[in-house]
Amino acid sequence: MNPIRFEQQLITPSKVICIGRNYVDHAKELNNEVPSSPVIFIKPNSAISDELHAGTKQALHYEGEIALLIMDGTIAGVGFGLDLTNREVQAELKAKGLPWERAKAFDRAAVFSDFVKLSDPVESLRLELSINDSLVQQGGYELMIFKPHFLLQEIAGSFTLEDGDIIMTGTPKGVGAFKRGDRFRGTILARDKPLVSGKWTAR
Ligand code: ZN
Repeated sequence: MNPIRFEQQLITPSKVICIGRNYVDHAKELNNEVPSSPVIFIKPNSAISDELHAGTKQALHYEGEIALLIMDGTIAGVGFGLDLTNREVQAELKAKGLPWERAKAFDRAAVFSDFVKLSDPVESLRLELSINDSLVQQGGYELMIFKPHFLLQEIAGSFTLEDGDIIMTGTPKGVGAFKRGDRFRGTILARDKPLVSGKWTAR
């Protein structure tokens, strides 16, 4: 089982619960409807990685996201997450109305920085993602269609949240393809101060 690091401790999430289309500007850039209830999908523990791997056959897309760590049913920690997506495969699956797992839940499709304890209000969270030193994505709580505490309630209505499970809260606009050698820096900020960040060079 794959661990993540939370305040120097290794934790093994049972699953990662992802929210799709949670930022209006991102839903629009992919020509998706703005949803009236959260779009939810799951990545298994086997998708978790702390390394970033580029696709071999088809280019993968990055989606930078605020990742929330759940303990005792509440938000205990936060980290930066990359929801990697095989957009070509996803487009085919979406066109046929089929599940997205082959495009979203493959090995190393959920890349995380370390997680830190969240003592700031969740309302103050935002993210920044730079690739090769240029800022490609930014956004946060204010731009989310469904806010974290509502998401937590919605998710808990269908899925037991085990200690260490992670919620990926969706991606702002600016998603795109990446290739081997690209240098990523993802940062989570609270009250405009950097809280935790992850750095990866795509392999
Ligand atoms: Zn996503």
